[in-house]
Amino acid sequence: MRSGLVEFRNVSFRYGENEHWVLNDCSFTIYENEAVAIIGHNGSGKSTIAKLMNGLLFPQKGEIIVNGKQINAETVWNVRQDVGMVFQNPDNQFVGTTVQDDVAFGMENRGIPRDDMLKRIDNTLTSVDMQRYRLTEPHKLSGGQKQRVAIAGVLAVYPNVLIMDEATAMLDPKGRKEIMRTVTDVRQNRHLSLITITHDLREVVEAERVIVMNEGKVWDESTPRGIFAKKTELRSIGLDIPFVAVLSDELRKAGVPITHEALN
Ligand code: ADP
Repeated sequence: MRSGLVEFRNVSFRYGENEHWVLNDCSFTIYENEAVAIIGHNGSGKSTIAKLMNGLLFPQKGEIIVNGKQINAETVWNVRQDVGMVFQNPDNQFVGTTVQDDVAFGMENRGIPRDDMLKRIDNTLTSVDMQRYRLTEPHKLSGGQKQRVAIAGVLAVYPNVLIMDEATAMLDPKGRKEIMRTVTDVRQNRHLSLITITHDLREVVEAERVIVMNEGKVWDESTPRGIFAKKTELRSIGLDIPFVAVLSDELRKAGVPITHEALN
């Protein structure tokens, strides 16, 4: 049986004493080497979950366990190494003047020896297919390329979990596809758990399991197919099934063989 890598145990969180509870007694587990999508309408608490997972925020109630350790002031530095995050806006994630400087940044903070760093830069840029851009200035890259570099920077510190927080939201369809492909490859090659946080149900198709958030609680957990079967209920919590999923469902019912690739 796969063991739990990230576990939320009865977690409640609010941003201030007079604010509403964004998460309210929320429990779920992400397992090793699993691809999970966390979905919910805007404001349902998804980004807050991401920030709690790598110790940018701490819950007022309950506990969060990452790789066997409860997140607290003492463990937070190790936890941040275990849980890498890529955010929505690629332009906000760059600190280096070249692609390779940028990938090096997270490692420099952790005192990784230079020889090892150079190997990791080479290795991670190759895994996101950006090796030939290693001396390029980041602002000259497309949105999809920038996100691939951001992914390389995260992978270079060898996390167990990669969180993509609306990481394709600002990309055009080509950039979006690039990132989805990169992330699928990386997950297979590096045995990572992947958590995709999104309000875009097209990204759910790639996941093995889907956690649906509503009003600070886990509303449902299922396979993408199980989730898509609840069209009407999803609409009632502000989520619309993508046209492509409805189409594939109808074609399947009509006995037309259809592959996933055909819909992408
Ligand atoms: P989602 O990612 O699902 O859109 P968020 O986690 O960003 O949801 O937000 C959940 C709720 O928390 C929203 O009501 C939002 O207004 C509130 N919120 C988010 N960030 C802050 C903050 N820094 N201060 C106060 N409230 C916040």
